[in-house]
Amino acid sequence: MVKYIFITGGVLSGLGKGIVTASTGLLLKSIGYSVTAIKIDPYVNVDAGTMNPYMHGEVFVTEDGGETDLDLGHYERFLHINLSRKHNITTGQVYYEVIMRERRGDYLGECVQIIPHVTDEIKRRIRSVAEESSADIVLVEIGGTVGDIEGLPFLEAIRQMRIEEGFNNTLAIHVALSPILPSGEQKTKPVQHSIQELRRIGIQPDAVVVRSPRWLEPGNKAKIALYSNLPGEAVYSDPDVDTIYRVPLILHMQGYTKHIAGRLGLEYREPDLSRWMKFVDRLSNPERRIRIAMIGKYTKLRDSYISIVEALKHTAAWNNIGIDLGWFEATDIENNRIDLEELEGYDGALILPGFGRRGSEGKIKAIRYLREHGKPILGICFGMQLMVVEYARNVVGLEGANSRELDPNTPHPVVDLLPSQYNVEHLGGTMRLGSHPIHIVKDTIAWRIYGREVVYERHRHRYEVNPRYIDVLESSGLRISGWSPEGYPEFIELRGYETIYFGSQPHPEFKSRPLQPSPIYYFFVKSIAG
Ligand code: GLN
Repeated sequence: MVKYIFITGGVLSGLGKGIVTASTGLLLKSIGYSVTAIKIDPYVNVDAGTMNPYMHGEVFVTEDGGETDLDLGHYERFLHINLSRKHNITTGQVYYEVIMRERRGDYLGECVQIIPHVTDEIKRRIRSVAEESSADIVLVEIGGTVGDIEGLPFLEAIRQMRIEEGFNNTLAIHVALSPILPSGEQKTKPVQHSIQELRRIGIQPDAVVVRSPRWLEPGNKAKIALYSNLPGEAVYSDPDVDTIYRVPLILHMQGYTKHIAGRLGLEYREPDLSRWMKFVDRLSNPERRIRIAMIGKYTKLRDSYISIVEALKHTAAWNNIGIDLGWFEATDIENNRIDLEELEGYDGALILPGFGRRGSEGKIKAIRYLREHGKPILGICFGMQLMVVEYARNVVGLEGANSRELDPNTPHPVVDLLPSQYNVEHLGGTMRLGSHPIHIVKDTIAWRIYGREVVYERHRHRYEVNPRYIDVLESSGLRISGWSPEGYPEFIELRGYETIYFGSQPHPEFKSRPLQPSPIYYFFVKSIAG
């Protein structure tokens, strides 16, 4: 019998509910159960793909090409599993399905309503993931905070599921914020109120995880327990820590795993968390530090590049180094508000992914500076495309070379729309997405990175290096070291470059895991760190 754990949030969004969900999964997996996770996003978008990263952070791409919420990235990283698009349920998908069914006549004669039709569709989606994954435990995180209007149908569906699946097979965890006042006092009232709201909706939590800058004071813990109708041992502290990867250890230390297993009637055995602890320990105690410049245009919201930042952490830990990131806003480079000589203080640079014109000339300028100064460069997706544009303009001498995305009338479209995109009308879910094979060329950096003929990485793009320019680029020293089955460049590098110059059309960061860093990021960081 599958067990469901529902995770809700209170007081504020952005509390780290995704980390608590992922940590809970990791702990249950470590005591021997198979675990999977679902993120529910109550917004009306069908998926995250059409949202600006400034709104919701990075769009996480799954193996099957789903454009999903960034929490799926946390789940994949903590649980060390691949998830599919079905693991991100949105209001948009639910209504889309219900309305299509209504039009087909499946509900003929009925008045179609939120309860039961919409709630039934929510439950059907959750159960279908449970069935397909055949996991012992399914974690279901509900985005937003309890009391949001758009979240109500999802909470109602959960309330019903608790009865239908049986209380021993379901568990509700509430994550809420206990703020610290300027006077230093830790306040519990917001937590109390959000629990009251949850109970008003009909959901009694089985555990409360309290986010706070500090550990919960004993008196406050007791107070929260009282107001949540719970014993004291069901209230857990989730204080600010040096790294998100420490959260499972902190929860476990407080008896969290045992409590949850007990409540669900699962057999408890002491988990072996030694590998994870070693990773966290190395991450927190680097032998030395390097500096990497992050050149992008969504730099004001760091979550826009979260998988890249995490991939760097994974690789840093296993190289025994710490990485300090310096954020360079490409628009500021473009407008000369940043002096490129600042890059001298860095050991290498990442040219970040992106879309559209804003900041693109700034990125190109930075690439030129880095290349001419022999600095290590790693370009991801758009970053790689702009490396090709820069090379075409400044080394090959193709004046006005550009990506057709940025200048539709460029005389030299060295980056152009993929043929598969010519007839695309709808913009949602239509890029070249997800995992595709890449054929690696022998005697290249790519070969040294992977050591295999065929590798798989995840993609999200409409444009590609134009095959018509490959000969001229290659005869000027640029090397295509990875190819898609259709004959498009996937990896580029420079022959004879003194450090490392590497561009990747796919996003290898999506597959990076704490205990198994991405080969490309690993190689890049290692070649800097020596
Ligand atoms: N805008 C580029 C494209 O569509 C790159 C996308 C990206 O960086 N993910 O091909």
